[in-house]
Amino acid sequence: MVKGILFIISAPSGTGKSSLIREILNTNVLFKIQVSISHTTRMIRPGECNGKHYYFISTSQFEAMIKEKKFLEYAQVFDNYYGTSKQSVCKNLSTGTDIFLDIDWQGAKQVRDKIPNSRSIFILPPSKNELYRRLCKRSQDSDFVIQKRMAQAVSEMKHYVEYDYLIINDDFKLAVSNLNKIIQVEHLSRRYQTRKNDTLIQRLLY
Ligand code: 5GP
Repeated sequence: MVKGILFIISAPSGTGKSSLIREILNTNVLFKIQVSISHTTRMIRPGECNGKHYYFISTSQFEAMIKEKKFLEYAQVFDNYYGTSKQSVCKNLSTGTDIFLDIDWQGAKQVRDKIPNSRSIFILPPSKNELYRRLCKRSQDSDFVIQKRMAQAVSEMKHYVEYDYLIINDDFKLAVSNLNKIIQVEHLSRRYQTRKNDTLIQRLLY
């Protein structure tokens, strides 16, 4: 079984990253793809479900998982812990399923170091005004939190240079199409095709 591809997707909140990921999961028929469900210590928001959007756990539970080395990566974002457990990612990749990791730049760096075959995609908003508008529209957070998230977004966006691909989410359909193309291109890469056609290549060359 050829391992799936691990796609890291980062973007400041309000960039439309979750909608893009959801659209790909709902419409893609070419590849088996799953999104990894992170653990977090942040408060659950209205409309969110434990085990679907995140595993919501306490700080002491999170710190115990750190001690037990259960995380592939973890980071503190907006004063809360967020982390990806090794277990589900490795299990799904080994069954040939691609995985989306919706994580911040700190986590992306850790994953790149541990899994060099992973590919990373950064999503940018079309403007600061639009980002502000989208954060307000979600109205999930207080004004104070929105201002804080805007400031955080600017420092986060500076990390786009560390990523393999860049998508500007202005026209949603175009952004979805571009994300789909990246997935397809990665499946056609020599690196992936060599793994997939290992036996054939051995027969042809030796
Ligand atoms: P939110 O609280 O809006 O759901 O997410 C806040 C930020 O935390 C987002 O940028 C998101 O990508 C990031 N994040 C979510 N899960 C993880 C994770 O498991 N690890 C890391 N490093 N960041 C995460």
